[in-house]
Formats: sequence, C-alpha cells, structure tokens
Amino acid sequence: MNTSPTSPIWHPFTQHGLNPVITSVDRAQGAYLYTAQGRQILDAISSWWVVTHGHCHPRLVEAAQAQAGKLDQVIFAGHTHDPAERLAEALVEMTPDGLDKVFFSDSGSTAVEVALKMALGSWHNLGEAQRTRIVVMEHSYHGDTVGTMSIGERGVFNAAYAPLLFDVDTIAFPEPGKEHLTVQALEKILADHPGQVAAFVVEPLVLGAGGMKMYGADVVKSLKRVCETDDVVFIADEVMTGWGRTGTLFACEQADVVPDILCTSKGLTGGLMPLAATLCHRRFFEAHYSTDRRRMFFHSSSYTANPIACAVAFENTQIWKTEPVQENIDQLVHGHAARLGALKGHPGFSNLRQCGTIAAMDVNVSDQGYLSDIAPKLYDHFQKQDVLLRPLGNTVYILPPYCLTDLDLDKIYHVISDAPDLLGL
Ligand SMILES: *Cc1c(COP(=O)(O)O)cnc(C)c1O
Repeated sequence: MNTSPTSPIWHPFTQHGLNPVITSVDRAQGAYLYTAQGRQILDAISSWWVVTHGHCHPRLVEAAQAQAGKLDQVIFAGHTHDPAERLAEALVEMTPDGLDKVFFSDSGSTAVEVALKMALGSWHNLGEAQRTRIVVMEHSYHGDTVGTMSIGERGVFNAAYAPLLFDVDTIAFPEPGKEHLTVQALEKILADHPGQVAAFVVEPLVLGAGGMKMYGADVVKSLKRVCETDDVVFIADEVMTGWGRTGTLFACEQADVVPDILCTSKGLTGGLMPLAATLCHRRFFEAHYSTDRRRMFFHSSSYTANPIACAVAFENTQIWKTEPVQENIDQLVHGHAARLGALKGHPGFSNLRQCGTIAAMDVNVSDQGYLSDIAPKLYDHFQKQDVLLRPLGNTVYILPPYCLTDLDLDKIYHVISDAPDLLGL
C-alpha cells in the first residue's frame, strides 16, 4: 500500500517524494510480520535491530500485560518501583564486573547522551573541567540527536545540521592489517592533549549503521589500554551489539574489556518496549554524590524507567537465564558461517563478513554511496519476495531474531544470492 497523500504521518529516513511503498503491518509472530492482506514477511533485520528472541514472545507479552494493569507509570525522581529495582540488579549482574550503577532512559541516543553527560559531569565535579575533548571512531553511529550526531560520522545525513554539531577528534576505522594505525592515532591524540580528553566512545566489534563494519576484539582491548594511560573514560556503545548480536551477551566480553560506561537499548526489552540503560562504574555516581544540589546529575526524561518497559526488560533477563537463547545464537552463528562459505566466490559480492549473528556482504557496483540507487532497488527486490532486508548503501546485512529456522535462513540467503543476476547488476 502506498502512503495515501492524506496520511498525516511523516516516516523516518523516508523520502516521501519518491512515492515509497509503505507496508502496513497488522501483527507479528516469531520471525514474521503479517499484513492485513495476508502477506507474511520474513523479518531478517529484527525490525531495525531490536527484536532478539522473536516478535511477541509470550513471556514478554505477558509481562507487559500484567504490569500495565498494576502500575503504568510513575515519576522516577524521588520514587522507585519493583520492576526497575529488579531490572537494575539483573543488569549489574549480567554485565561485566565493575559496572554497578544504572541510569535509565528511553532510546539508544539518550543512553549515549547520558554517557557523555556522566563523563563530562564527573570531570567537571572533580575539578578537571578542561577535560572536554571527545574521541570517536570513523564511520560510527551513535544516534540522531544533536549530541549523538556530533560524535557520529558526518555526511549527507547531517550536513544540514552541521552548524549545531560540536567538534570531536576522530581515529580511523581499524582496516584489516592496519589496526595499529588506529591504536597509534588514539595514542597521538592523548599525547597531544594530555589531561584534556574526557572520553572515547566506540561501538565494540561492529559499527552498525556505518555499514556493518567489523573489527577484532584485540583492537577493542588495545584502545581500552590506551585510554587507561590518561584516565580517559571508555564508553562502549552496545546499543546494537548488546543482547547476543555478536555471539556473546555483550561484545565487550569477547575483548575481555570492562568499559567505564556501557550503553544498552535495542535488545534490552527483547524488542517489545522502548527502554535504555546507561551502566557505569560507581566512581561516576560518586563524583556527583554530595550535599550540594549543583553537583547532582542533571538529566531525566518523562518516561524514565517506565514500569511496563522495565517489567518487560526484567522478563527478558529471565528468558536469557532460563531459555536456550545461547544455543539459538550458536545455531545462527553456524548457519551464517556455512551459507557465507557457500557464497564465497559469487561474482556479485565482496567483503563477506560475519560477527556472531550478524552477516554482511557488499554488492559489487560502482556507485557505493549511501544514496546510491542500489539500496532502494535491492530493498524493493527483497520486499517483493517477502523478505525484509534494508541495505545500507551497497551493503546487504542479515541481523535476524534468534528464533530463525534453517529454512528461514535458507530463504534469506537465496533471495540475496539471486539478487545481482535478477537485477542485472
Ligand atoms: C540505533 C543505535 C543508536 C541509537 O538508538 P535509537 O534508539 O535509535 O536512538 C545508538 N548507537 C548505536 C550503536 C545504534 O545502533
């Protein structure tokens, strides 16, 4: 169904002037979306990377329903509730040791903004107000608010807002064989500006929206070590990589790194409710702890720690503990590996890659930019075959819910491997 010109809705990342097909989804179950017209669409990107176990997991639905009838919402300043308390305890227990304070917000962008404010606020309160520089990695994405656009890759998506964005220092993406250059670049920035860098923000193992660019755990480890030489706050943006996507619960585990601050959102509720959490070492809390009101952490949003979202997220942590989630993930990891192996040598693709449950490949075309026509062409092609895949430029990636069957995975690889020929690429 095309958006009727009378619909008041303005969709995200959508050029309405190209008359895009807008699919109206009626319900969802497991790995599938269903339309009222009877279409059954395989959700190969977990509905923008949020659904982990599958759509409408009965335990998550039940948790939402039960909580909605009991306590819907309550101001979180000066108040608390059982779902938030239980969730915070579970998060502290499940994340790397040393992350022991939890600040709730509503989206990945706000989780990252909170992390930046925790770092800057702590340096300010500790009398190191000169520490304001932020270092980031090339091709990163941390959200679409003004603050998170500032620390993300600059390009066509934020050119119009450039006057609003603050400056950061950027280190190169660690290309294979050139990882040492990335580490050296961070060393140089710290050496050039001793005691001035507040924080380093990075997506560990996979840069998601930047094109599913993957790099090794050893690089994460080295970057963390460099940060330690000048007390630079290491902020891990695990908004996408968290909750099993990279094969382990959090990506940092593979690098054996405990970040100073960890941001989580997308998979936190299993994809059922919007919620985010920024976890930090207790020293950030302590830097704000005082009898002086000027030193408190000045951040909130209206729905902070919404009880329904927290109840669902807590139930998600229990699903991780009681259901064979890791087994499903491992099966997906093997499923990708076998099929990517079979795709090797296909003339239409290059740079086949995998990190845990995420697989990606670049379609061989000359125009590779984000705005090249290839992405919408591929998207439409996959839609016609009832598979939801939303390429980033010429990069096709698969980031599915963990309930996916082997047959589902076969179908996804089938429509991808056929695409270059059928589209005459
Ligand atoms: C999606 C994403 C964000 C932003 O999350 P929103 O919920 O869309 O605000 C931040 N960081 C990373 C790594 C992401 O993938």
